[in-house]
Parts: sequence; C-alpha cells; structure tokens
Amino acid sequence: MEIYLDNCATTRVCDEAVQACIKAMTLDYGNPSSLHKKGMEAEEILRETRRTAAGILGCDANLLTITGSATESNNLAILGAAAAYPRAGKTIVTTSVEHASVTNAVRHLAENGYNIRFVNPRSDGNFHPQDFLDAVDEDTFLLSMMMVNNEIGTILPWQTVIPALRKKYPKLLIHMDAVQGFAKYPLNVKRLDLDLLSLSGHKIYAPKGVGMLYCKKGIRLKPIVFGGGQENGLRSGTQAVQLAAGLTEAMRLCQQNRAAFETHYQMLNARLRDKIAGMDRIFINSPENGAPHLLNISVIGVPSEIMLHFLESKGIFVSSGSACSKGAKSEVLKAYGFPEERIRSALRISFSKDNTLEDIDLLSEALIEGAARFRRMTGA
Ligand code: PLP
Repeated sequence: MEIYLDNCATTRVCDEAVQACIKAMTLDYGNPSSLHKKGMEAEEILRETRRTAAGILGCDANLLTITGSATESNNLAILGAAAAYPRAGKTIVTTSVEHASVTNAVRHLAENGYNIRFVNPRSDGNFHPQDFLDAVDEDTFLLSMMMVNNEIGTILPWQTVIPALRKKYPKLLIHMDAVQGFAKYPLNVKRLDLDLLSLSGHKIYAPKGVGMLYCKKGIRLKPIVFGGGQENGLRSGTQAVQLAAGLTEAMRLCQQNRAAFETHYQMLNARLRDKIAGMDRIFINSPENGAPHLLNISVIGVPSEIMLHFLESKGIFVSSGSACSKGAKSEVLKAYGFPEERIRSALRISFSKDNTLEDIDLLSEALIEGAARFRRMTGA
C-alpha cells in the first residue's frame, strides 16, 4: 500500500503527460533550433506549451520563456531584472515566507549592494496589504511575493496589494512566484498587471525539470545563462522538448478539471480537519482560509521526522516542511510565529487529484497510533 500525501513537493506525472513525453522523445525528437522538418516539429511542441500556459494565465504566448524549473524562473526574474535596471532603486521588498529560490536570490543581491525588506505575517497568521504598502517606497525597484505559501497554504493578499502598489508606484516591478497556485486557482496576469510570474511543471502532474517565466511586454531582463540564444536570448540551452510536451498535457488536464480538482482538494481537506478536531494535542497550522490542497499540522510531543518515518512504515508519505529544507527546522513556520514545540512537530500533508477519503482516514488512524506510541515512550 502506498498513500502519497506529499504533492506540494512533487506530483505523480499524469498518464497524458507521460504519453506526450514518450512521443516527443521517440517521434518528435528534433532540436527545435534545427531548420528542417524535425526541428520545426519540435519547435511546434514548444509553441503549444506556451499557447496552453498563455490560455491559463490570460497573456500572449510569446511572453513566456520555458525554463528548467521554477527555481530558475525565480532567479531569472530577480537577478535578470536587477541586471537590466542598474539605475533603478536599490531596494527589494519580499516576504519572510518565500521559497529558498526567491530568498537566496535576493540575499545574493543583498551581497551586491541591494537593501532587502521582508514583509512578515501578522500574529493572526495572515499578511496584511497595508504592510506591503508600508514596505515599498520610491527606492523599491522590485516586489517579489508568492501566490500561495508552500508550507502552510496561506493565500497572500496579492489581489489587493498589486493594484494598490501599481497605482502608487507605476515603475515598480512586480514578480509573483505562482508555483503553488498556478493552474489550481484562477489568476489572470494581464488583469492583475503583473510584470513577472514563475511556475513549475512538477507540482501540477507534469515531469520534473521544466518551468516557465512570464515577462510582461516592455519589461527588460538580462539572461543569467549565456549560449546559443534560445528562448529569445533569455535562456540559452537546447529546450527539453519532451518535458515541455508533458507540461502541455498536464496544464490541459488541470485547466479542464480546475473546478473539480479544487472541490476534490476541499473535500479531502475538510475530512482531515474534521478528523484532527477530535485528536488529542494535534493542531492545525494552516489558516482556515488557506489553499485547500495542503494542510500543515503539529503533533505535539512527536518530532516531525519521527512521525514522518512512522507514517512511512505504514506506506504513507508526508513532508516535514518544504521538500528543499530536508528536515531542517522551518524558517517559514518561525516567521509565522508558531511556538517552538509546534515547529518541531510540524507535518505538511498535501493532496493530489488521485487521493481518496480512505487515504485521509488511514492517515488519521496512523497519526493517532503514532502519537500514542511515541508519547507513551517519551512521556510527552
Ligand atoms: N516556489 C515554490 C513556492 C515552491 O513550492 C517550489 C518547490 O517546492 C519552488 C518555487 C521551486 O520549484 P522547482 O522545484 O520547479 O524549482
């Protein structure tokens, strides 16, 4: 038995994407830069990936760059914009709960003379729009904020913050890491007037190793990888056509089933919340109004890793935080102000279209058993 509940780390590739990858590797295997028919077939696959993403984001397809990951997209957005606008202000505003690919990119700029301001969540666990308005000033050249937090599922107040900042600071560049929201929840980059947006394939049933970056018309970026000038010079290197083919199919699947998948995540989330409500000293860290595809909980007295491996022994896979942190104590939960004992025992449970209510019931039983066993052993 395998119950995979770590879908914020990565998802199982959907069958449609697998088939598309195989076809691209075995039939349409040309190099998209080649001038002959095989090259054009491959180029058409990339075009279709851009068209499909553009349909979801409400933008022109030619504004999308295919990258190797959202990590790369975030780096290209932040470092590429800084390099392209050397005479703009020297302040970057971001949040204290971003993914490491944003945090470490801005830290890199901090070593090169930039001033970084982190917006924190308030004690109620939510971000308040006014805090972004207070953090941005005339010297701010970039705001980078995520769409949905990957550890506890908070939906950041971008819908209010972006139009307000746009009005006050028309020259401010606005970047959104949309990895945990893209193709799951509605978002229109044109209506929002976003400048830059990053997304990843493997969180939405596409293979690992492919991401995209949207860059609004008229916004300049300098590349961070140099070479043959693929992707309009923004991302040199032969494109992974087979991964792009898989991404197209995964995006289609998510787009066609968006509402149904959301309802499904809500159902699983509600069941787990319900079960946890009746459990002894197990707390929910995710806000009530968070994204439904994940739930962060703490099993007081049982360190995350111990419970993670206990669940694993039962064939249930969850995470102790963000996959990249590899078990290190979560800086993000710290930023949210959770007490130490909650951070030490936190688990992230994240759902896919394939999880069932039975999965949740089995997880709940295992949590109760694991908590009782380890608390008894340690007297916690
Ligand atoms: N941003 C967020 C919010 C994420 O959750 C992740 C992955 O966990 C990333 C960026 C990085 O994505 P990738 O694995 O495609 O580099």
